[in-house]
Amino acid sequence: MERAPDPLLTITRAQLIVGGIFDRIGIEVVWHELAHCQGEKQPIVVTLSLMTPRDQLPYALAYSQPFEGVHIRVFYDRVVYDQPVTGGVCPPQVLLAHVLAHEIGHVLQGTDQHAERGVMKARWNYRDYYEMARKPLGFSDLDIRLIQNGVAPRVERLRASRGSIYENLLSSQKVLIRSGPVVN
Ligand SMILES: [Zn+2]
Repeated sequence: MERAPDPLLTITRAQLIVGGIFDRIGIEVVWHELAHCQGEKQPIVVTLSLMTPRDQLPYALAYSQPFEGVHIRVFYDRVVYDQPVTGGVCPPQVLLAHVLAHEIGHVLQGTDQHAERGVMKARWNYRDYYEMARKPLGFSDLDIRLIQNGVAPRVERLRASRGSIYENLLSSQKVLIRSGPVVN
């Protein structure tokens, strides 16, 4: 059996891929450690679950709360250690990145809608895993519109709450993501 990938390296690589996926639609993702991210920046909070109970959403790799707009939980153990899920065609950091991008997509869109293909597809198949291993999946045109519609009020709220010191940040539509320690 292969050695389990180093979590820090896997997460860092996944963050880079997520950054690339959102960069293609004009959104810059900024990652912060949980301890170094102020609440007033209205971040999205990602928690990674290491010991997910078997009966918790048995077929899910993660979930988010799109209507609440803040929290994402990724079942890191299922994504990274249960490689049979992809038939082994997709490196763990690539799958982790797509799971993160999918849930961030939900939170930014503020909906639980899914697309026929790409990042926001409800359930990826073997072909999708193969594709994402070659090149990150993208968002559909509708996804992009929904994300842009969802980001606008976030930016407005930030602007209202903080004023000018975040001007640069706001003008580039940065989305702040803070990731917690790997905890269950
Ligand atoms: Zn979904």
